Amino acid sequence: MKFVDEYRDQKAAEFFRDAIHNIVTKPWVLMEVCGGQTHAIVKYGIDELLPKEVELVHGPGCPVCVTPLELIDKAILIASRPDVIFCSFGDMLRVPGSEKDLFMVKASGGDVRIVYSPLDAVKIAKDNPDKEVVFFAVGFETTAPANAMAVHQAKELGIRNFSILVSHVLVPPAIEAVMSSPLCRVQAFLAAGHVCTVMGYNEYLPLAEKYKVPIVVTGFEPLDILQGIYMTVKQLEEGRHEVENQYARSVKKDGNRPAQDLVSRVFRVVPRKWRGVGEIPESGLGLTAEYAAYDAETKFDVGDITVDEPEECISGLVLQGIKKPNECPAFGTRCTPEHPFGATMVSNEGACAAYYRYRRFAAKAA
Ligand code: SF4
Repeated sequence: MKFVDEYRDQKAAEFFRDAIHNIVTKPWVLMEVCGGQTHAIVKYGIDELLPKEVELVHGPGCPVCVTPLELIDKAILIASRPDVIFCSFGDMLRVPGSEKDLFMVKASGGDVRIVYSPLDAVKIAKDNPDKEVVFFAVGFETTAPANAMAVHQAKELGIRNFSILVSHVLVPPAIEAVMSSPLCRVQAFLAAGHVCTVMGYNEYLPLAEKYKVPIVVTGFEPLDILQGIYMTVKQLEEGRHEVENQYARSVKKDGNRPAQDLVSRVFRVVPRKWRGVGEIPESGLGLTAEYAAYDAETKFDVGDITVDEPEECISGLVLQGIKKPNECPAFGTRCTPEHPFGATMVSNEGACAAYYRYRRFAAKAA
């Protein structure tokens, strides 16, 4: 397939594998920030191609995984109301809240619908004026423009029975939180190509300088990731800490300005709680005063719910790159994709789910 096969070419992969082996002289720990990259690394065994000196740890880049448990409970509470049509991307429906998930709400009669775009939810609101329609707006900077467009369009069309339950998080503050931890082992980052397609990479320049870490904007295909690792290791070996762009076929330094303008009109930067990590200042998005009427948390008065995480789950440590999924005692036994304890096992992009899917037997043996 055009634009896919050429990024999975075996000979080119062997070239980058050998190039990495040829330049490495000492141990390095690299973190990929995106769940899509984690999935590709485990699926294609990219970490197993690397020299033993290069270790990959998996960062907080899966939006489903970092959505706090209490927000899932808020979604369940809203979706259970008889006057609500609750719309979401499919991956959020299986994420367990403290007692049940959205699929269970649907099974017991709740009107929970899977949509492919937030704009579909706006249309549902237009077609159902006697119902309140809520869209579960989860994601990083990547999905923020479409969610901003949905809210903006609803306002322009005068649709008042539409709102969004916002759980948007931002990558740069997460990198800052990882680097600030006293347990941090990370020496370089592969930044997420799709996030930078929207945002560009100017905001990574001060982070690379402050923490003296190379940051390489990287794509998602096996060759993208191998080349990103090569560029990162080369910087580390040469004592450089720069922001470089491996994913130049999609990412421009300034990103997509019209998308950024829309996002900053509809959303403002707010503190956000990250699942397993805790609250990170200025790490999320909330609606601006102009669009506050579209905030589902306020509309349905669910702002005050707080919930404790399951004690046994160490996904917070997994999301910070401190532990690997197979170091969790519950991995593959008490915690599986069919019976997940934590969100990193639920989402396809979660590190625990990727380990379980592609190497559960090796991981169990370890
Ligand atoms: S295997 Fe399950 S319990 Fe362990 S960290 Fe992953 S999600 Fe949490």
